[in-house]
Amino acid sequence: MKKRDFLRAAGLLGLAGFANPFRLSAANEEQIEATTFRDGDFELPKLGYAVDALEPHIDKQTMEIHHGKHHATYVRNLNDAIKGTSFATMEIEEILAKVTDKYPAIRNNGGGHYNHTLFWQLLSPKGGGQPSGKLADAINAKFGSFDKFKDQFNNEAKNRFGSGWAWLVADKKKGLFLTSTANQDNPLMAKINKQKGTPILGLDVWEHAYYLKYQNRRPDYVTAFWNVINWAEVGRRYEQATM
Ligand code: MN
Repeated sequence: MKKRDFLRAAGLLGLAGFANPFRLSAANEEQIEATTFRDGDFELPKLGYAVDALEPHIDKQTMEIHHGKHHATYVRNLNDAIKGTSFATMEIEEILAKVTDKYPAIRNNGGGHYNHTLFWQLLSPKGGGQPSGKLADAINAKFGSFDKFKDQFNNEAKNRFGSGWAWLVADKKKGLFLTSTANQDNPLMAKINKQKGTPILGLDVWEHAYYLKYQNRRPDYVTAFWNVINWAEVGRRYEQATM
């Protein structure tokens, strides 16, 4: 039994009643036997909605390939990359906090797994509108208004050259700020990024995220994204990150 399996079996991993979407829970140990990810134990999370549920903003075929192929590959490659390293027993957040540029496969695939798992949860067929509560107050205080925040976020997404992500980040001391990262990096990578914090909203601007429907029109995809943002989830993550 691997150390991580033992810890999980002993109930030492996992948070009080909340399923960790990045990992299999003990209850799913049998299920993992049947997956192709048996060599490591990060797994591809299920989507919380149907692949066509975000139409017309994000199309079915893009979701099928993005989740079922791209994200699945990050998971498989992450499991391969951590095997036999000190990262093998860590949860994903710790891997990202400790990874350096000496471990490109763990950096790229660990980031890929985290970023996509987060992204699927930030989307909802019932999404759109605006945030409320503490997050809305914080956005207004920092950016002046929701519309000004939206413009600045869109600029981060449109101006990120090549593949990467645009982020709204929360930090206890710095409050909210916007940034973007290249490839599959994110603001949890403390040894790689200058701007550190907890990403609470992220937009994937890799061409694989939009090319089938939008081709070269990244700005149209960025505009459509606002119709499917799950603000309740973003707000929950804001409060958790700034508690
Ligand atoms: Mn992607």
